[in-house]
Amino acid sequence: MRYPVAAPDLSGNELEYVTECLSSSWISSNGRFIEEFENRVADFVGTRFAIATCNGTAALHIALLALGLKPGDEVIVPTLTYVATANAVTYCGARPVFADVDPRTWNLDPDSVRRLISPKTRGILPVHLYGLPCDMEPILDAARQHGLWVVEDAAEALGATYADRPVGSFGEVATFSFFGNKIVTTGEGGMVVTNDPELAERLRLLRGQGMDPKRRYWHPLVGYNYRMTNIAAAIGTAQMERIADLLAARKRVASWYREELADCPGVVFQTVQPPARSAFWMVGVVLESPLGRDAVMAELAAEGIETRPFFYPVHHFPMYGGCRSDQGCPMASDLAYRGICLPTASYLQRKDVACIAQAFRRAVAKQPRPHRSAVRKGEVTPCPS
Ligand SMILES: *Cc1c(COP(=O)(O)O)cnc(C)c1O
Repeated sequence: MRYPVAAPDLSGNELEYVTECLSSSWISSNGRFIEEFENRVADFVGTRFAIATCNGTAALHIALLALGLKPGDEVIVPTLTYVATANAVTYCGARPVFADVDPRTWNLDPDSVRRLISPKTRGILPVHLYGLPCDMEPILDAARQHGLWVVEDAAEALGATYADRPVGSFGEVATFSFFGNKIVTTGEGGMVVTNDPELAERLRLLRGQGMDPKRRYWHPLVGYNYRMTNIAAAIGTAQMERIADLLAARKRVASWYREELADCPGVVFQTVQPPARSAFWMVGVVLESPLGRDAVMAELAAEGIETRPFFYPVHHFPMYGGCRSDQGCPMASDLAYRGICLPTASYLQRKDVACIAQAFRRAVAKQPRPHRSAVRKGEVTPCPS
C-alpha cells in the first residue's frame, strides 16, 4: 500500500530508549521508563495518577473493576465504538446497554443516555470517537443527577480537549490505548488515569496480580497480570516527548482533507464544534448512501490507498444482540454502514492528502447517486468544520 490507513511515527528517541532497555537488560515490567511514561501521561492529561497497562482493553477492565462493577449491573456505552468498550463491561459479568450517537458528532447522545438509565445502571462509558471529545457537560449532569460514575474511553483521543481541559480528566477514571495505530503508541499498551488515590491504589493492585506493594507475594485479592513492559514504556516516553508535534501534524492533515473535499457532493465530516477540540485520530467521512461505500473503498485500495469502514454498531454483534439498546440505535446503525476512515498519519504532507482526496472524489463520482428520498432527513446536512 502506498498509503496505509495509519502508521506510527517512531523517528524520535524511540530506538535509543529501547536500546537502553536491551543493553541494561531491564526488559520486563520493572525499569525507569514505566514511571517516566506514567508521569508524562499524568502531567499531560492533568490527573494525579496514571497506571500503565499492557493494552487499552486491560486498562478499561481494571478501571471498571476498581469502581466495583459486578454481575447484574448495567453500564451505558455508545454502540458506535470499538468492541473493546463493551467487552470490558462483559468481562466484569455486567451488561453493556447501548446508547445511540449524535448524527453530526458521531459521539454518545446525552438524550439517548438518559432514556436508558435504569435502577441497575452503575455508570456511563463515553467514547471520544476518532479523537473528538463527547459532549461531556450533559453526560456529567446526567451522571451526577442519578449517582452514576463516568469512565471515559479516551483510547482514541489523547490530546483532545473539551472546554480547554484535556479528555481523561472528566470521569472518575479514564483510559487510553497505545496500540500501533493510536495517537501515541507503545506497540501494545494502555493507561488508566484518575485523581482518586484509593482508586489508583486499587488499580495498581489489580494490574499487578493483586500483590500487596508492602508485602511481597501477599495477594489480598484476585488480580491480573496487566503490566506494561519497560520496553513498551521506553517507546511511549519517546513518543510523549513529541506529543505536541504529533498532534499539530494530525490537525494539519485533518484540515487539508476538509479543504480538499469541501465541495465533494454528499460527503460529510465529523462536526467539530466548541467547546470540543479534536485530537484527529482518524479522519472519517460519511457518504450519502451505504450502497457505494464498499465500492469506494475497493477503488481506493486498487490505487494503493488503504481505508477502513466505520466500526459496526456493537449491538449488531451476535453476543450483544440480546442487550438493551435505545430503540435499536437508528443513527449509529445508519452512520456505521456509510462511513469510511481515510489515511490519517502525522507524516502525511499536503500533496499526499491532495492525491488521496482526488482518488476519493473519482471513486465517489463513479457511484450511482442515491434517490434523495432514500436518504433520511437530517443525516446528510453538510457540517461546518
Ligand atoms: C483502541 C481502542 C481500545 C483499546 O484497544 P487495545 O487494542 O486493547 O489497546 C478501546 N476502546 C477504543 C474506542 C479503542 O479505539
